[in-house]
Amino acid sequence: MTVQQRFDTHDIFNQSPPFENVDLYASDRALQDAVAANGAGSEAAALSEFGRRWGAAAMFDAARLANENTPKLKTFDTKGFRRDVVEFHPAYHQFMAEAFRDGLHASTWNADGTRAAAPSEVARAARFFMVAQVENGHQCPITMTRACVGALGVEPALLAKLIGKITSRTYDSRFIPWWEKDGITLGMGMTEKQGGTDVRANTTTAIPTGDGYAITGHKWFMSAPMCDAFLVLAQAPGGLTCFLMPRFRPDGSVNGLRFQRLKDKLGNRSNASSEVEFVEAFAWRVGEEGRGVRTIIEMVQLTRVDCVIGSAGIMRMALAQAVHHTRYRTVFQRKLADQPMMRTLTADLALEMEGITAVTMRLCRAFDLAASNPEEAARARLLTPAVKYWVCKSAPPFIYEAMECLGGNGYVEEAPLSRLYREAPLNAIWEGSGNVMCLDVLRALSREGEAARAVLGDLVTTCADLPGAKAAAAFIAKTFMSADGEAKARAAVEKLAMLAATAALAESAPVVAAAFARTRLEAPRGATFGTADLGAAEIGLMLDRVLPAA
Ligand SMILES: Cc1cc2nc3c(=O)[nH]c(=O)nc-3n(C[C@H](O)[C@H](O)[C@H](O)COP(=O)(O)OP(=O)(O)OC[C@H]3O[C@@H](n4cnc5c(N)ncnc54)[C@H](O)[C@@H]3O)c2cc1C
Repeated sequence: MTVQQRFDTHDIFNQSPPFENVDLYASDRALQDAVAANGAGSEAAALSEFGRRWGAAAMFDAARLANENTPKLKTFDTKGFRRDVVEFHPAYHQFMAEAFRDGLHASTWNADGTRAAAPSEVARAARFFMVAQVENGHQCPITMTRACVGALGVEPALLAKLIGKITSRTYDSRFIPWWEKDGITLGMGMTEKQGGTDVRANTTTAIPTGDGYAITGHKWFMSAPMCDAFLVLAQAPGGLTCFLMPRFRPDGSVNGLRFQRLKDKLGNRSNASSEVEFVEAFAWRVGEEGRGVRTIIEMVQLTRVDCVIGSAGIMRMALAQAVHHTRYRTVFQRKLADQPMMRTLTADLALEMEGITAVTMRLCRAFDLAASNPEEAARARLLTPAVKYWVCKSAPPFIYEAMECLGGNGYVEEAPLSRLYREAPLNAIWEGSGNVMCLDVLRALSREGEAARAVLGDLVTTCADLPGAKAAAAFIAKTFMSADGEAKARAAVEKLAMLAATAALAESAPVVAAAFARTRLEAPRGATFGTADLGAAEIGLMLDRVLPAA
């Protein structure tokens, strides 16, 4: 593309070229190392092809379009009949179709609904991580579709009916009954006005009918409302129960879902999040009555991992944009990338990203191995909430700092930094907010104490003599066991996640593990990025690894 560089009044120079047409895999050394160390190295060529496709300029432009042209709720038609449909920009559908083609919604499941063999979790995570660098809104239904299969496993007959449509690689956006479609998506509705964390306070009711249940009530948040069916919680005669509610009743008529309005959200704007009423809506029971929370836990673990991967992805894009820009921009006759303080800052961000990338892929490896390895199952159980807590909460300050590296250009809408920044808090809030994640770590420790302690021991062994690792483990154990362990849980959970990141780095990128341990465990850096005590060689190493030279 030719751009106008000469204006009547001035010439344009000293601006960085757009960061696009890049291989999101081959340009990310930390990702490649983490993928290889966690069993998916054989996917490298396919991941690189994927990285080039998703890193194309046209994809970045489609992401801008999907987010500028937000979905619209069409509640009624011109004659006053209910429609209850949401219309999306074609760019959103394009992302859904791409994600379906690449199996991001289902590649971790076999055609019969059982778990696909390793390294399906790590391979999908690498792709999901790259997609998150480009467009986030459409990842919501993609995540929920894959995760719902985990809960539907308790109803083999129902799952058998649906699984062929779920694992289809064809995205079908038509508003028609699920059995007529080429591929379907699944969503979920748990949060009500009076409570999201405390779903046991749900007031929505479920009354058994001959062929299923009639659900009456509401949900305060129900994202991706054009999904073909939703896992919902409602109070059945036997207590809080999980259900699957399709958009169309078995007789082909439109089901009783009445969308009230769409949320006007801070970010995640390409995706719709609805408020909805259920008017005797038809649903199938999933799991026993009274076991609703137990049933959806299978799904929640998977959505939480995707929150981690998604946050890691937007951080990586923010970092890449920052490093790219500083390599072109000159200030005081010197490239920003050569200014000593900017080098420390971007190296510190890159080091954080190394830890986050490593721990994210290691966590997905635990999911890959959990079915056949109890230690890995315990690792997934204990570390999912801890890593979600740390990674998702790290995203806003990290992205803000990357944004500042672009100066004023970072703050305007044309650059993706502002969109990434608005997206950043979401993954921490939904699927278990920060405090709730810490409570979940405490729950894992109290229910599976021995196995959880073994995970902690294993992390320390993996860290060997890395600085601060043993002291961190002692602090974690002491804090959790203290009488006011709940009040102090945030400090211990944060440390646990960083210890896990150090251990993951020791396995996948040992060359940076010591710097991470020293500046995150032994002598934690100051409140802002760029305050870590890094030596010149460490800074050089980080900046070599973060992005290939142009
Ligand atoms: C964009 C978006 C999309 C969403 N999509 C969906 C969806 O599709 N389906 C769905 O069901 N929900 C959805 N949600 C809702 C989301 O899951 C809830 O907002 C979230 O679970 C928190 O629930 P809440 O809003 O009721 O907050 P509350 O439960 O009231 O929590 C408020 C705060 O209190 C803290 N807290 C809670 N309990 C404790 C405790 N015991 N000790 C200390 N602190 C505590 C929490 O960490 C949180 O910070 C969505 C939310 C957003 C923002």
